[in-house]
Amino acid sequence: ARTFFVGGNFKMNGSKESIQTIVENLNKADLPSNVEVVLGPPAPYLAWTVEHNKQKTVSVSAQNCYDKVSGAYTGEISPVSLLDLGVPWVILGHSERRTIFKESDEFIAGKTKFALEQGLKVILCIGETYEEKQAGKTLEVCTRQLKAVTDLVKDWKDIVIAYEPVWAIGTGLAATADDAQEIHHQIREYLATAIGAEQAEATRILYGGSANAKNAGSFKDKVDVDGFLVGGASLKPEFVEIIKSRQ
Ligand code: 13P
Repeated sequence: ARTFFVGGNFKMNGSKESIQTIVENLNKADLPSNVEVVLGPPAPYLAWTVEHNKQKTVSVSAQNCYDKVSGAYTGEISPVSLLDLGVPWVILGHSERRTIFKESDEFIAGKTKFALEQGLKVILCIGETYEEKQAGKTLEVCTRQLKAVTDLVKDWKDIVIAYEPVWAIGTGLAATADDAQEIHHQIREYLATAIGAEQAEATRILYGGSANAKNAGSFKDKVDVDGFLVGGASLKPEFVEIIKSRQ
């Protein structure tokens, strides 16, 4: 069985004070032992978050990294620095990186391969825009984004996929549980053809896009929804309810 996974992507939000509140709130919560929780604070707060987290089931993720160990790459983040800080995860391919920072499928795939080789685990984000959805291209877009990675990476044990339809991110309009299940199933079918049935079965596929405490429970019986990547609601106390939504 796949371990349920709840990630919090804080994006470029928070302060010393607000992130302390989030971490302390989690530290005192009675978290289920069978849910893997990953917090993704902004890079300046990574070390602080690692130092102050007291929950065994909670670990920390960066929101991006580069495909080099070190060197003259001003402003970039080395996967090796993340590991040095005790940060085992990185989010790659988030739609905000793809659209605002023009990261291509190939660049993201290369960074995924490099991060894995260095020893990081990767939350790989995919998902279609509203226009692509309207054009009936959801599966085509997700498959294209995944293929760039399956072409380069054959061992998927340290990758978690986050299906995040762009139209659902930050809009309050989450995909329905049925719609998420359908595309998650199709994503898993693609994975089976690309990396084999066994790895496809073992790979966790998260849903992201306006997931919150109110709607998380509706995904409960969806067999291919293995957790959530939460943006806005991960900054609020309700994040704990999302972590508990499978109980
Ligand atoms: P929201 O939960 O704020 O819609 O953001 C989702 C997301 O982009 C997580 O990576």
